[in-house]
Amino acid sequence: MVSKMQLHAVGEMCPGYVYNEGTFGVSSMETGEKIASCETCIHWEKGKCNIDLFDKVLTDLDQT
Ligand code: SF4
Repeated sequence: MVSKMQLHAVGEMCPGYVYNEGTFGVSSMETGEKIASCETCIHWEKGKCNIDLFDKVLTDLDQT
């Protein structure tokens, strides 16, 4: 299982990240800011990345 922290870290680093305005309203964010995370990315579908960038970005993160 992937943790929220990993989703967040990957979202921040991912070259393919595109904020999905429709999925989460700003109201759901405590700060009102856009939080980069796979969960707020248009490519995140049913718990996985639909363009297969997740594993790649996660691997890159582990190496830094
Ligand atoms: S869902 Fe995919 S494209 Fe979007 S931030 Fe995560 S890994 Fe990147």
